[in-house]
Amino acid sequence: MSPNSNSSDLAVGIDIGGTKIAVGIVDRNGEILARRSFSTEAAQGFDRAVARIVAAIDECLLESGRRRAELYGIGIGCAGPVSPTRGTIDNPYTLPTWDGVDIVTPLKKEFDRPTFLENDADAAAVGEAYFGAGCGAKSVVMLTYGTGIGSGVLIDGKIYRGAQGTHPELGHLPVELDGPQCYCGIHGCFEAIASGTGISSAGSAAGLGDARHVFAAHSAGDTRAAAIIERALQATRVAVWTIQHTLLPEKIVLGGGIIDDHFALFAEAARGAVAASTMNPQGCTEVVQAVLGNRAGIVGAAQWARMAQMK
Ligand SMILES: [Zn+2]
Repeated sequence: MSPNSNSSDLAVGIDIGGTKIAVGIVDRNGEILARRSFSTEAAQGFDRAVARIVAAIDECLLESGRRRAELYGIGIGCAGPVSPTRGTIDNPYTLPTWDGVDIVTPLKKEFDRPTFLENDADAAAVGEAYFGAGCGAKSVVMLTYGTGIGSGVLIDGKIYRGAQGTHPELGHLPVELDGPQCYCGIHGCFEAIASGTGISSAGSAAGLGDARHVFAAHSAGDTRAAAIIERALQATRVAVWTIQHTLLPEKIVLGGGIIDDHFALFAEAARGAVAASTMNPQGCTEVVQAVLGNRAGIVGAAQWARMAQMK
């Protein structure tokens, strides 16, 4: 996808995760002019976090020599569940006490700018689709391998929404019907096997330690580690096969900490699944590596704040 030439003004992008909140002033080209980050400390109160976000935006404006009135909008990407339509964060799981809290209203009131909330994986997907690895593609699926496996789906440049505005959770695609129990309630989810948590869990059970140790043991030729990694790669093949056959995206973007360190392994598996398809034209789906790193959330949230006003 290409940046919209009509988006001529600055926007704020906010990326809220379980451990850190990052705030940035982003121009129409996806460049971050100034940014701040600080610990989320969700349990210390939602109002405190909002006040820190407001202060961080003002600091970024000051640093970049801009004014509040120059902002086109404010975009927030937050670890889900979130409700973009209600503007609420409903995530007491990784943001303790933040259950049903409205983040859009206080920021909109403070800055008098249009303000939008999205799932953080969707925001990252928008960032990569417009300014990163997905540039030039009309349909993009991003998979972020971290603690879990986040997913963002963009169709014709817009975030795909399901019923009631909900967000597809591709990390919970079942890839092994008799696989390990996932916290969502079923067995053998993609992220229960291939995420950092999934690999760490299998590594601990095998006496190898967490995911980092599993990858190190794999590099050293350990057969137990090789089996765990192969299982994660097979989970990736099945998930990518499913995604390709249901959505046929032009690009599948792989990102997140595990991919940063081991892209070649996972890309080979994903590309193998795509190439094995006989139902779709060869070459219609490209597997690429995310390039924006932890900037994707800020840049994507800011871009969505622009796009949401162009509907
Ligand atoms: Zn699950």
